[in-house]
Amino acid sequence: MNDLSPKGFNGAREAHEADGMGSSPAKRGRGTTRSVVKGATTDSEAICGAATHGAAPSVSASRCHLPRKRGRNPSPHTLRSIADLGNAELVSRDRVSQLEAVAARYAIAITPAMAELIDGDATGPIARQFVPDTAELVTLPEERDDPIGDHVHEATEGLIHRYPDRVLLKFTGVCAVYCRFCFRREMVGQEGAGVLSDTALDAALAYIRSHTEIWEVIVSGGDPLIVSPRRLERLMTALGAIAHVKVIRFHTRVPVVAPERITEALVGALKASGKTVWVAIHANHAREFTEAARAATARLADAGIPLVSQTVLLRGVNDDAETLGALMRVFVENRVKPYYLHHGDLAPGTSHFRTGFAAGQDLMRALRGDYSGLCQPTYVLDIPGGHGKVPVGPTYLRCTAGEVDDPHGGTHSLR
Ligand code: SF4
Repeated sequence: MNDLSPKGFNGAREAHEADGMGSSPAKRGRGTTRSVVKGATTDSEAICGAATHGAAPSVSASRCHLPRKRGRNPSPHTLRSIADLGNAELVSRDRVSQLEAVAARYAIAITPAMAELIDGDATGPIARQFVPDTAELVTLPEERDDPIGDHVHEATEGLIHRYPDRVLLKFTGVCAVYCRFCFRREMVGQEGAGVLSDTALDAALAYIRSHTEIWEVIVSGGDPLIVSPRRLERLMTALGAIAHVKVIRFHTRVPVVAPERITEALVGALKASGKTVWVAIHANHAREFTEAARAATARLADAGIPLVSQTVLLRGVNDDAETLGALMRVFVENRVKPYYLHHGDLAPGTSHFRTGFAAGQDLMRALRGDYSGLCQPTYVLDIPGGHGKVPVGPTYLRCTAGEVDDPHGGTHSLR
C-alpha cells in the first residue's frame, strides 16, 4: 500500500482502545468540554490533573539537549507544568517560555516512573512521548480535533457505539500521563475533568441495557485505571448485571506509567459476575517495562486477566525494526499478547510523530520475518471521520497474479 499523503498519512495515535478512546487536554482556551464531573474530586486527582496555563509565542520544533544526569533523585510527584519540568531539569531553562504556549493548549503530566526513565536522556524515546515540544503548536490542515470520529457515533454522553457488538465507555477524562501524540488530546486532561457524571453514566448503562446486541464494553477514557477501586467496583457491578454483556475490556497505560496503582484492591475491582475481563496495555518502547511495570503486569496476569497490547507507531520512538521488535518481545515475555500497532491519527500538533504507511508496512514485514509469531501485532488505521478501524497491511498474497511474497521481499508463484 502506498502512503495516502505526501508524507504518508502521518499521524500519531494513542492507543488505548481498539475502538476509539480517551480524550485530551484542557483545550486551555479552546473548546470541547465533555461529560465529566466538573471539579470532581475523583480518585483520579491523586495522580492526574490538568495542567497549566500560560502563553508564549510558538516557535519551531526543537528538542532540549540537557546534560545527562543519572543518579539524581527524581521528583516523587507527577510533574504537571513547564515549571515542574524545568525544576526537574527535563527541559532547559531557555525553553521554558517557549513551551508555555504548548502547556496553554495541551495538558502535561509525567509520573515519577516516567520522569525517572527520562532523566539523563532528554532526547530519548521516553522524553519524546511525554515532554512537550513546540512542534505541537503546528497544526496541519488535515489534522482534526476528533481524528477518529468519536462524536459521530456518540450514543449517549461518553458512550461511543461505532461497531454493532461493542461500545466504548469514556469513563474518565483524565490520565496518569499526557502523551504528546494523544489522539484524544482535544478532550483528555481538561480542567475540572473527572469521571463521567452519575447522570451520564446512568444514561450510558441504560443504553447498554436496552441494546442486546452489545456483547462487549470497552472501558477507556482517559485512563480508567486511574479511577479508585471503589468506583471501578461500582461500574463492574452495574455492568455485571447486564446479561447480554459478556466481555469487559479496559484500555490503560497505568501498568507501565504508574505501576504502583495496580494494587491488589484495584485488581480485585476488575471483576464482574459472569463476565470475562480483558486489559489492553498501552506501551510504545521496551524501556517502559521497568521492574515495577513488570510486577504490575504480573499482578494482572496472575489474577487470570488476559492481557493484550496497544502501541502507537511513533517517529523517533519505535519506528525501527529493532526497537519495535524488542517491545513486542517484552510484551510477550510479560504475558501480554501483541494486539494493535496503530498508525498515527490526525490529532492536532502531532505530525512530527507520524510515519508514512510504507514505513509501517516495512516494519511489519521485518517483524514477520525475524520475530516469533507471538510478537506480531496487527497494523491498523482508524479511518478519519469515524469509519472504523482496518488493517493496513502489508499484504503478501496477490490472487490475480497467483503469487505470494515472503517477508524478505522474495516472490513465489502459486501456480
Ligand atoms: S494515556 Fe491518556 S494521554 Fe496518553 S494516549 Fe491514552 S488517553 Fe491519550
